Amino acid sequence: MTLIVQKYGGTSIGTVERIQAVAKKIVKAKQAGLDIVVAVSAMSGETNRLINLAREISASPCARELDVVVSTGEQVTIGLLSLAIKELGVEAVSYTGSQVRILTDDAHGKARIQEIDAKNISQDLQQGRVVVVAGFQGVNNNGSITTLGRGGSDTTAVALAAALSAKECQIYTDVDGVYTTDPRVVERARRLDRITFEEMLEMASLGSKVLQIRAVEFAGKYGVPLRVLSSFEDGPGTLISAEEDGSMEKPVISGIAFNRDEAKLTLRGVPDTPGIASQIIGPIGDANIEVDMIVQNVGEDQSNDFTFTVHRSEYDKAVGVLNGVAKQIKAKEVVTDNRIAKVSIVGVGMRSHAGVASTMFRALANESINIQMISTSEIKISVVIEEKYLELAVRTLHTAFGLDMDGTG
Ligand code: ADP
Ligand code: ASP
Ligand code: MG
Repeated sequence: MTLIVQKYGGTSIGTVERIQAVAKKIVKAKQAGLDIVVAVSAMSGETNRLINLAREISASPCARELDVVVSTGEQVTIGLLSLAIKELGVEAVSYTGSQVRILTDDAHGKARIQEIDAKNISQDLQQGRVVVVAGFQGVNNNGSITTLGRGGSDTTAVALAAALSAKECQIYTDVDGVYTTDPRVVERARRLDRITFEEMLEMASLGSKVLQIRAVEFAGKYGVPLRVLSSFEDGPGTLISAEEDGSMEKPVISGIAFNRDEAKLTLRGVPDTPGIASQIIGPIGDANIEVDMIVQNVGEDQSNDFTFTVHRSEYDKAVGVLNGVAKQIKAKEVVTDNRIAKVSIVGVGMRSHAGVASTMFRALANESINIQMISTSEIKISVVIEEKYLELAVRTLHTAFGLDMDGTG
């Protein structure tokens, strides 16, 4: 029989009625002759509620215990969904991550899946059951519950699909596919029929949280065809798959991603000597702060400006570290800004087209949007701008690259 893994996100199972509607969808697929394994999230808002509860008790909760708390959201939904499926006359069985044995490493809160024992699930499928697995959670070698990072149910679904050699992994959510940009920000965003793993990975990494980054990585690595669909209406959704080598004309830009979660730090008047970059970035790394973009400008007077961005939640910590570094290396001053945003255009078509950057920069200039930093890779260009211009920038670029619903893109 053909096996499909389906994943339902928080909004899709946010109420009892929605859980019942999802159960109907699952039963319909089962009755159409498919084997179905389901991965679910917690009900929408639940994971945040659980995190807040833990934080009320402890300002920086122990990671192991936090995982014990936050993983309960998914334990509720697997039970409820299994009950709803059974009510429709189809056998279903629920499993937590540790019951399946989704083995992960020890990195609580951002654990990586190492192995999935598919034995129980395969036996249940043979008995005609729908198998409902808790997303977002696993177990480490010591038997402690781990979680995979926010949005991690997507990764559970893809990993199950890979482990069970499913025909497709279907991610059901509150939009009917992957759009050219977040449809909640740009009304004229268009649903894409297809997008490559590579492009989706860039989109996800650059802020499009429709899929967890690791889920896309995993799907690409194991060649699991991934489809994003609506839980609420029927439709083809968006297929995420390997790049076709056919002669089909590819759009230059497939999508626009954006991210408000960054902050910018600049050290002015840094001595222009070898080793200085590592003296600045070293202590930041030692403090476990991830750095995203880095720009160094060579000044006229044997001194440089050194600018980099970090996640906004690490801003205060990074400012503290940088003030220390500034004294040590005798930099002139530290200038910081946590009101920035990053906007990125993504597309494999960029490889074979010149002038993409100039189109981007011109479009932003026409709206008097100042570009503070730029970074590029083969299939993306990112710019840092003032946060207040973010939506204008995304809309402007969406139009400039012909992506609007009525555009020619
Ligand atoms: P779920 O709870 O089902 O996992 P998420 O909230 O994680 O759902 O992901 C779906 C949301 O992703 C949509 O509601 C949408 O606002 C957002 N989103 C961001 N970028 C895009 C995009 N390019 N295409 C579609 N949705 C996007
Ligand atoms: N419930 C978890 C979260 O809110 C995992 C998920 O939804 O994928 O992040
Ligand atoms: Mg999600």
